[in-house]
Amino acid sequence: MGRIVGIDLGTTYSLVAYTDAATRKPVCLADEQGRTLLPSVVSLDPAGSVVVGWPARERLLRQAERTVYSVKRLMGKGLEDVREELQLFPFRLAPGSESVIRIQLGEKIFTPPEISAFILRELKRRAEAFFSEEVSRAVITVPAYFNDAQRQATKDAGRIAGLEVERLVNEPTAASLAYGLDKHQRALIGVYDFGGGTFDISLLRLQEGLFEVLATNGDTHLGGDDIDNLLAEKARAEIHQQLKLDVAENPELYQSLRNAVIAAKHALSAEERTTLRFPLDARGDYVRELTRAEFESWIEPIIERTLGPAKRALKDAGLKPEQMDEVVLVGGSTRIPLVRRRVEQLFRRRPHCELNPDEVVALGAALQANILAGGVEDMLLLDVTPLSLGIETLGGAVAKIIPRNSTIPASATEMFTTYADNQTGVDIHVVQGERELVKDCRSLARFTLKIPPQPAGLPRVEVKFLIDADGLLQVTARDIRTGQQASVEVKPSYGLSDDEVERMILESIEYAEADFAATQLIGARNEADAVLRATARALAEPQAQELAPEERREIEQAEAALRQALAGDDYRLIRERIEALNQATHHLAEMLMNAAMQTALKGKRADEVNL
Ligand code: ADP
Ligand code: MG
Repeated sequence: MGRIVGIDLGTTYSLVAYTDAATRKPVCLADEQGRTLLPSVVSLDPAGSVVVGWPARERLLRQAERTVYSVKRLMGKGLEDVREELQLFPFRLAPGSESVIRIQLGEKIFTPPEISAFILRELKRRAEAFFSEEVSRAVITVPAYFNDAQRQATKDAGRIAGLEVERLVNEPTAASLAYGLDKHQRALIGVYDFGGGTFDISLLRLQEGLFEVLATNGDTHLGGDDIDNLLAEKARAEIHQQLKLDVAENPELYQSLRNAVIAAKHALSAEERTTLRFPLDARGDYVRELTRAEFESWIEPIIERTLGPAKRALKDAGLKPEQMDEVVLVGGSTRIPLVRRRVEQLFRRRPHCELNPDEVVALGAALQANILAGGVEDMLLLDVTPLSLGIETLGGAVAKIIPRNSTIPASATEMFTTYADNQTGVDIHVVQGERELVKDCRSLARFTLKIPPQPAGLPRVEVKFLIDADGLLQVTARDIRTGQQASVEVKPSYGLSDDEVERMILESIEYAEADFAATQLIGARNEADAVLRATARALAEPQAQELAPEERREIEQAEAALRQALAGDDYRLIRERIEALNQATHHLAEMLMNAAMQTALKGKRADEVNL
């Protein structure tokens, strides 16, 4: 038996969840700071240890050449597949990335599955801390459109992280499960997933416990990041116009502006107005009132861009929007009220949004994990193959052997023969895709079956395709007369070999332990820096003059103590002293807040700049 966790390995954020045995409810696990989301960012510390998640994200700017994000975009891809990504993202490929992509992080080189494995290991560790026992089995979600190579790469990542991947589940299927939609006898389900950097629409048909992907569409370069970029640019232009100061010239300042607009964006999902505030320089903050109406008028074109792919998916599936029985919202960006309104208008139905949209996929994965672990007996959940699989025949045509949307596991057999006299081998070329010609499909693998020379048309070669429950393929070719056979577990030309994965597993162990304390230390140091900066800023405010002398002395002592702790490398001590400084500045913070409220109530001009 043993426990199986559910993992959403996302482009921007990843999560781990489990199903509570007593309540049968799935729950996302949080880190020490109570955060369930783990940024899918990995950084290699100059000291040689690997940093994952929030502290890695803080390094995106200062240690760009040692830090990587959005690696999901490279999973299971070859060099020719990623040209576009390379133009849009600062991926630094190492030399020799032709067959397998390799990413340069500082002085080390990693493949995308290895990078993903660092993220998975962090989630594994989170689960192990929670259960106080080893966790070695997981269900991992993948986008519905992921092909064989991308699925294989995800499985490899799991193995490298020391996780047995019990099942790969399509993200929209997981989201539907989280909402309990599998209780329907049959239903048409639309899943609208608007995340950090990607937009996916999936149309599913549920029938007798079977989720079938009717159509998928989307935009791999459309998400919350675009909104953040737009807002940051608006703010930059405004500051430039008013103060003749170009924030973009200082990358750190621009990053802090970006963080401020993201905070404002999040606030506007819950409130009608918010204050955009960010520390411009020693003289003061940039402050600007922002209403939801203004925000929505800016981002409208971005939201509009999701509707085209959604309509195309409906058209491909031959469905009208109002035929959907259920619509599910997934992804952090669907918290934006305008997104919800647009989706509701399109489908003429209120979408499900009761659960945290950034958690639903992980919650569904946890439910599926529970089913596999035997926690629920009366339930069988199956997925289907997303793309057809076949082999090349005469003239570059494709003979489909397993059509798309076959339930998995699946197998099919077909007979082939030779078309030239005295052929001594039959070349089997395995392809994936819906098009008729090999050149329009994705080449998965090639191998040769040796046969004794015979006249054309006489040999009988049986080709068998077997797809396991993860959608992974094994192809066997057998000469019926001689009983000779050859087979491949399809490792696409740009995938990793078993030996490579084994080697990576061994290598990864060297990182596994050392990193925890290092990560903690980095996180504590960053937090300390931020708290010290904030304290200095607060002390410079006019209201701080009203502090009692002993209060000010106490703050200064706490600051000095924290600085002293920062010189050492005891993360617990640093955290303690951050806490002490926070205590000491408590009253000051209240004073500043009251002052800020009074200023706001006085009805200052909305776009005023406090300097
Ligand atoms: P992934 O692309 O990895 O699946 P998520 O689904 O977690 O990512 O979505 C992340 C995006 O959601 C980010 O752009 C984030 O800013 C955005 N987001 C999170 N919470 C909110 C919110 N309250 N309002 C608007 N956007 C949000
Ligand atoms: Mg997602």
